[in-house]
Amino acid sequence: MKPRITFLGATGTVTGSRFLLETEGKKILVDCGLYQGLKTYRLRNWEPFPVPPADLSDVVLTHAHLDHCGYLPRLYAQGFRGPVRCTHATADLCAIILRDSAHLQEEDARWANKKGFSKHKPALPLYTTEDVERCLQLMQPIHYGTDCMLTDSVRLKFKDAGHILGSSFVDIKFPVGNGLRRILFSGDIGSPDRPILRDPTQVFEVDYLVLESTYGNRRHSDKQVAPQLARIISETAERRGMVIIPSFAVERTQELLFHLRALEEQQAVPVLPVYLDSPMAIEATSIFQKWKTLYDIQALMLTLDGTDIFATKNLHIIKHTEESKQLHSLRGPGIIIAGSGMLEGGRVLHHLEHRLPYPENTVLFVGYQAEGTRGRALLNGNPTIKIHGQEIPVRAHIKSIEGFSGHADWREILAWLMGFNRQPQLTFLVHGEPEASQALAAKIHDVLGWKTVIPEYLQTLSLT
Ligand SMILES: [Zn+2]
Ligand SMILES: [Zn+2]
Repeated sequence: MKPRITFLGATGTVTGSRFLLETEGKKILVDCGLYQGLKTYRLRNWEPFPVPPADLSDVVLTHAHLDHCGYLPRLYAQGFRGPVRCTHATADLCAIILRDSAHLQEEDARWANKKGFSKHKPALPLYTTEDVERCLQLMQPIHYGTDCMLTDSVRLKFKDAGHILGSSFVDIKFPVGNGLRRILFSGDIGSPDRPILRDPTQVFEVDYLVLESTYGNRRHSDKQVAPQLARIISETAERRGMVIIPSFAVERTQELLFHLRALEEQQAVPVLPVYLDSPMAIEATSIFQKWKTLYDIQALMLTLDGTDIFATKNLHIIKHTEESKQLHSLRGPGIIIAGSGMLEGGRVLHHLEHRLPYPENTVLFVGYQAEGTRGRALLNGNPTIKIHGQEIPVRAHIKSIEGFSGHADWREILAWLMGFNRQPQLTFLVHGEPEASQALAAKIHDVLGWKTVIPEYLQTLSLT
């Protein structure tokens, strides 16, 4: 059989990345993502997997975000027992992200059963903590740049994608007739010049490219993060208020700590107590500390004299709920970093209950707030928000910082493509809303003259 690719997800949407590469009798699944967002997509998480999972030879993961790895425990539960290939940092981050995901699903099922609002009786989680622990046993991490032979003639290699710690381009070389072909899966491509992370690796020559297009029709704000952060913190400190930062545990929290430490060093902000009040963010930060070898040169240079790039001068790690509750009675100024990032749950809700009614405090958003979340309601200027059944008046300052972004925008993607020595035989655009993918296709055509394909769900193409 000729080598071929089938698109099992991230078609017409940014979630559910799953691509099947069949070559040399192997069925290799690149990314094993969860569908999130719209219900029509989320229902796919519950359907039987289009290929019997026991027939898959390998799973290869680009990175540890749920839309790329979050379906893995479900694949395990349906019979997949092959190796899961990814970088070491991805394996470590997957462990905390998948455990948290199973925990949330178990909680949701318990809640649905208690309230009796599920159509399914009893409501079941998509997967359990036990499924997660078992599928984590399948991880076979390798380093960036190392050749990993999947058969005598199929070679896998990871290259830094600069998106989150451990994120990779998946580069697979496979035989066609008497020759060899290379296919590169971009996963998510980082924006260059992010702190801590290296820039996305320049790739020169591939035959097939599977390219994300999340920001295919958007460009980033040119605003720098650090000056905005400095101003908001200094203003709140003058009012003797608390800055509450709802944050995502992986990457964004570490980026924030990195900026805070640097601003203290430059004396651009007063040294304030910083309370890191998220068990998951604490774990993620320790994984960042473990994998210093993955930092970019600028961050590595800071560590030469033993500096911990995440340690602000007065940092408090808050592990237990009891300690977290004690923060409620503290007077400002200070900074509390807690999840969840969009205020959908987590310890940050308790902090908001105590801090929102007072005008000296600030709630500072450092990430995207989706439609329908409490975060969006606050940003929209709602005078009250509902937390734990109570309407809480909003008198605190509500601020958000522009310029944090995990994804390359269309100019950065185009610039990366311009570095290629030659046009790939075919470029597939995935991981985008339809308008974003189409906009990127048009720009790639206009600027580079390349041929692109926007694949449909379950579409199969031969690789010649
Ligand atoms: Zn991602
Ligand atoms: Zn993604």
